[in-house]
Parts: sequence; C-alpha cells; structure tokens
Amino acid sequence: MKDKLLLLIKIQECDSLLVKLAAKKKILPENIEKLNKEFQLIKEKTEKNKIKYEELKSRHVENENKIKKINEGIVKTKERILEVKNNKEYQAMLMEIETAESARGEVETEIISILEELDKLVVLVKKEEEDLRQSQIKYEQEKKTLEDDLNAVDTDTADLEQKRIDLQKNVPGELLSKYEKIKKRNNGIGVTSVWKSVCNGCHMNIPPQLYNEIRRSDELFSCPNCNRIIYFQDMEKPS
Ligand SMILES: [Zn+2]
Repeated sequence: MKDKLLLLIKIQECDSLLVKLAAKKKILPENIEKLNKEFQLIKEKTEKNKIKYEELKSRHVENENKIKKINEGIVKTKERILEVKNNKEYQAMLMEIETAESARGEVETEIISILEELDKLVVLVKKEEEDLRQSQIKYEQEKKTLEDDLNAVDTDTADLEQKRIDLQKNVPGELLSKYEKIKKRNNGIGVTSVWKSVCNGCHMNIPPQLYNEIRRSDELFSCPNCNRIIYFQDMEKPS
C-alpha cells in the first residue's frame, strides 16, 4: 500500500503544479498586456511634449517671417513717402507705418513668450527622452522575462502531463478514480499529509485513535472531516 500512496502523492504534486501552471498561463499574457500599456503611456507622454516643441518651433519660424514681411512693408512705405504730393497722403502713410510697427511689436512679444516656452520644453523633452530610454530598457527586460516564463509554461505543462501518465499507469484504477473524485470535491487536493493531529487539507484535528493508526500503519486513511486521503508526515524531519 505504501508504494501506491507514494505514487498518489507524486500524482498530487503533478496535479497541484499543473493547476499553478494553468493559472500562470492565464495571468502572464495579462501581465504582458499591462506592461505594454504602461510603456505605451510613457511613450505617448514623451511624444506629446515633443510634438508641442516642434509646433512651437514652427510657430517661431512663422513669426520671424511675419516680422520680415512687416519690415519689408515698412521699408517700401518709407520709400513711397518720399514721393508723396500732399499732406493727406503723407498722414495716411505715417499711419500705415505706425500700424505696421505696432503689429511688429505684438509679434515680437509673442516670439519672446514662445522662446521662453521653448527653453522650458527643450529641457523637459530631453529629460523625458532619457526617462523613456531607461523605461524602454526596463520594459524590454521585464517583457522578455514574462515571455520566457510563458514559453516555459507550455513545456513544463507537457512534461508534467507525461509524468502524470507514467505515474498513474501503476496506480489501480479504483484508487485513481477515488483520488480524482475526492480531488474534484476538495479544491484540487485529493491526498494530503497529517502532522501533529492536524489534516493539512482542511486544518481540522484528527481523532487521536485514528492519528495513531495513521502513524503506525501503511493503510490508506481518509480525513473524517474533508474526506481527503491522508498520510502521516513528520514535518520536522528533513526529507
Ligand atoms: Zn481533512
């Protein structure tokens, strides 16, 4: 009987590991997805400020061109003013120059505020780009670890399933189906150890007489509370 029990214990080990692997198979892709999203957000944030920087830069160029045009206009008006014949026309041109100069003043003010913002943005973008580089290194490492884990899950699952098939070949059908039935009803645990009168499956006390029998005998016993197949294991003895 002892041999059969050892086989059941090993089958239980396989089954418990298979449950863990199935959970990993579900959670790992979710974790990879979460990681992708987090990195995408950092990337988008950096991208946003970079776009803002480029937009401001082209606005700066536009404004410089505006100033150039205004200046050209003023020069032309000043040339024309020399050929003016009457005072009314002369006043109109002076007004034209004044309007152009005030427009230029407004554009110059905008240029100053754009330059100030560009100074701040260039520092921010540089910092964010450096952060992004660091994040990318970290992201790629973490992603690789998760993907390696996920790849290992399939190999490990296949190995364990094969191991289980080999193990159960030597377990009598009746005992195996009893184990399966109990396991199904008890959260995937059909066989469990007993130590210090406590069932490690349900954590309830085993009656003293039964506990003594379990310790002495190689027979298969069931926990009176959870019905799991139980065996004695000295937890203080190094295995
Ligand atoms: Zn129990």
